[in-house]
Amino acid sequence: MTAALDKLAQRFVPTIERVAALEHNGKRRQSFVEYHVEPKTVHTMLNGKRCLMMSGYSYLGLNGDARVSAAAQRAIDCYGTGSHGVRALAGSIALHRELEAAVAHMANREAAIVFGSGYAANVGTTGALVGPGDTVFLDKIDHASIVDGCQLSGAELVRFRHNDPAHLEARLQKSTSDGLRLVIVDSVYSMDGDVAPLPELRAVCDRNNALLMVDEAHALGVIGQEGRGIEDHFGWSTGVDIKLGTLSKAIPSVGGWVAGSEELIAHLRYRARPFVFSAALPPAQAAAALESIRILETEPWRVTQTQDSARRFRSILTSRGMNTGDSETAIVPLIVGSDEQAYAYSQACADRGVIGLPVVSPAVPNGASRLRIAITAAHRESDIDTALEVFLDAAVACDLLRV
Ligand code: PMP
Repeated sequence: MTAALDKLAQRFVPTIERVAALEHNGKRRQSFVEYHVEPKTVHTMLNGKRCLMMSGYSYLGLNGDARVSAAAQRAIDCYGTGSHGVRALAGSIALHRELEAAVAHMANREAAIVFGSGYAANVGTTGALVGPGDTVFLDKIDHASIVDGCQLSGAELVRFRHNDPAHLEARLQKSTSDGLRLVIVDSVYSMDGDVAPLPELRAVCDRNNALLMVDEAHALGVIGQEGRGIEDHFGWSTGVDIKLGTLSKAIPSVGGWVAGSEELIAHLRYRARPFVFSAALPPAQAAAALESIRILETEPWRVTQTQDSARRFRSILTSRGMNTGDSETAIVPLIVGSDEQAYAYSQACADRGVIGLPVVSPAVPNGASRLRIAITAAHRESDIDTALEVFLDAAVACDLLRV
């Protein structure tokens, strides 16, 4: 082995040791187990056993919807499976334009742009808006793609305490830079299911001459009367300056989006590097996303049912003593304690036929490991009842709850 390869191998050692330790304890990360999630249902095959999936992302229950799959198939028949590279070369097709118009309408903005992923949308947008001399203020638990976007941009990174507008204000007041000041938050936090306090954040930004950008990844299709995200959630009383999201969660496709003024979107088309230098969204994925947005707009019951089911699920669990943190959306964390406790609890649920995937440190703080549950429109009342029974029974069996 060359010295360089040897040096590289040393970097792998801590990871390999950690995985080996977990596997030795029989606590293998379930997230790397292969699931065969049945489209159109909330079931999945795990080791030959059919289980109820309670940690999926398809909030609107549209993954496998016949209309969405047919739209994707039509796009394949028409364009094939590839995207011919970047949009500025051969990559643009009519579907991209239609999808961007649909996203802009849904987001209540003049224009929109779509990227290959939500991660790319975050990294590309932040990098195109700010740079050295500017300052970005991030909530302590903002998604990794927001943090990465900020770090790559070269702007100064300042963190403030989670969902704490007063702390943000103190940070803004302390900052002396005269460049752009950009505050970025998640609308809904992916590991906790709590919502950013938008009116207070807006007021702080206005008082301190800062722009406000939100990541609607877990908000679109989930919060608000029509499922149109955080502005809808707060009754359209408060606006944000820039909003973006993903097409891989409530919208069962892949891709990311940004919505805003014509000028903002024109700027991103030329300056957002993942848009300029990375392949366009494939036709099937663009068509699936477009059809799903149409369904979101015409079938509002999907949003209401998910919100109602999540409320019932959460209130029964908390009344029995489970810790669901500050969740108020379709994401309901079942916070249990150590990494090992979360793995054991997840396994006990799987043994009883229900999948709740564990999320452990460093994705969440030490001692706050959890199962991350996501309620969807595809879960029927009886599915929620089954899940409740199993989560409670397994919690007692794992000594997390008393009978
Ligand atoms: N933002 C948030 C808040 C997310 O949770 C995620 C995905 N987990 C992303 C961005 C990235 O989206 P994508 O998976 O489409 O790249």
